[in-house]
Amino acid sequence: MSDRVAVVGSGPNGLAAAVTLARAGLQVEVLERNDWVGGGAATREITLPGFKHDLASAVHPMALASPFFQAFELSRRIDLVVPQVSFGHPLPGGRSGHGYRDLDRAADAIGRDGKAYRSLLKPVVDRIDAIGEFTVDTLLRVPKHPIGTAIYGERALELGTPLWGIRFREEIAPAMLIGCAAHTIGRHPRLSMAGAGLMLSATAHAAGWPVPVGGSQAIADALVADLEGHGGRVRTGVEVTSLAELDGYDATLLDVSAPALLRLGGDRLPDKYAAALRRFKHGNGVSKVDMALDGPIPWTDPVLREAPTLHLGGTREQIAAAEREVSRGRIPERPYLLVVQPSVADASRAPDGKHVLWAYGHVPYGSDVHITQTAITMIEQHAPGFRDLVLASTATRAVDFEHTVSANFAGGDFSSGAVTMAQMLKRPVVSPTPWRTPVKGVYLGSGATTPGPSVHGMAGWHAARTLLADRGLSAPDLGL
Ligand SMILES: Cc1cc2nc3c(=O)[nH]c(=O)nc-3n(C[C@H](O)[C@H](O)[C@H](O)COP(=O)(O)OP(=O)(O)OC[C@H]3O[C@@H](n4cnc5c(N)ncnc54)[C@H](O)[C@@H]3O)c2cc1C
Repeated sequence: MSDRVAVVGSGPNGLAAAVTLARAGLQVEVLERNDWVGGGAATREITLPGFKHDLASAVHPMALASPFFQAFELSRRIDLVVPQVSFGHPLPGGRSGHGYRDLDRAADAIGRDGKAYRSLLKPVVDRIDAIGEFTVDTLLRVPKHPIGTAIYGERALELGTPLWGIRFREEIAPAMLIGCAAHTIGRHPRLSMAGAGLMLSATAHAAGWPVPVGGSQAIADALVADLEGHGGRVRTGVEVTSLAELDGYDATLLDVSAPALLRLGGDRLPDKYAAALRRFKHGNGVSKVDMALDGPIPWTDPVLREAPTLHLGGTREQIAAAEREVSRGRIPERPYLLVVQPSVADASRAPDGKHVLWAYGHVPYGSDVHITQTAITMIEQHAPGFRDLVLASTATRAVDFEHTVSANFAGGDFSSGAVTMAQMLKRPVVSPTPWRTPVKGVYLGSGATTPGPSVHGMAGWHAARTLLADRGLSAPDLGL
């Protein structure tokens, strides 16, 4: 009989691991605390019947760029709609950044700084596969594509230091760049955020930012279908509180946060490792609102109406100032606000003519502040009449996330640990194989390990392949 493996957590990483292990012939059981599967890739009707809201992730550049999803052939298993405008960025005074997928078109729309924006991003866009491999797959190893990696590193250095304004004379291009970099919460300029933002900006102008038809749940469901097709199963409503509960399994793979590993492992964790987990710092959080809308957001700028993703908060200086406030533990008056209206690209999310929207603002870790009124006011400034379209809303404060969305998002920290340069190299410990814990047969494969947050499945895939290698098994083919 084959080995039995418990996977704790059905987030994208847990499911990526489960699929890999099941395809290698192991008996896999996924144990999930929630009554549904998907973790940060779940979609549910949380406002009105017929309105499908992504509880966490909504937009998926990594669905195309992740080596795991490429091997899994995700884009052949689910429908991904790639909008022509990856993102929009309204600015004071009626100006906007238009994140057209076509880099030349986006640059032309910027005006005076268009040439500089193009020259910054084009070499990265042209080498996006090689650079993507480095950023999500081989961060701690010798890069396979040194030229692409050097170009990426040099530009990340420029954007992540006080040199960040050197190319630009006006406000639109810098605003577009910080709008992407601020998907990661923290102070600007900073290398870790500039690196992540540069990659995100480049994907916006390369393969684009896809939205899954039916919601992010489609990604989780495709993984579960494959798992079940290979003999695995998922048990929902099961919270694991100690590793001792899993002693009946031959191995365990955890899609949990670093503090959760500390709690689950207890005395079984060697002191040095436990101390490293304790030192692993959480990041700040988000306060989110989901809305059911009577119609699309009436952006004054018609190009913004084509974009599912909008970055609000103003100019680079205004966003940087708001992020500084958050890092000091304060609630900014006008936070950086990420707005996603997936129903612009996918009509299946809401009844005919209606729309869904999610918006989140950055707030300090564990904040109990509601963002709803702030979000309405900020959107209304660029889309008069928006307020009257809101049929219903559900707020998820930073403090609520771990209870209502994923146990891994304590305090609203959706990155499962602050994204600093140190914590990208030490995630959660410095090791070429951070997915293997010092406890025999126990592996960690969540966003708390390399390569960090986002829906890419890479941490789970790495952890599963480490487990298989330790048992003398080969990594399986994942394709259709
Ligand atoms: C509001 C928000 C918006 C986001 N937007 C995007 C986006 O647009 N694109 C993107 O790529 N990423 C986005 N993210 C980030 C993304 O959701 C996460 O990086 C990703 O889900 C991490 O995957 P994971 O598998 O490591 O953990 P999770 O998705 O958090 O899954 C972990 C699962 O394990 C379960 N679990 C944990 N502990 C236990 C236990 N002890 N017993 C049983 N079950 C347990 C949890 O309940 C959860 O279901 C967003 C996150 C948030 C919160």
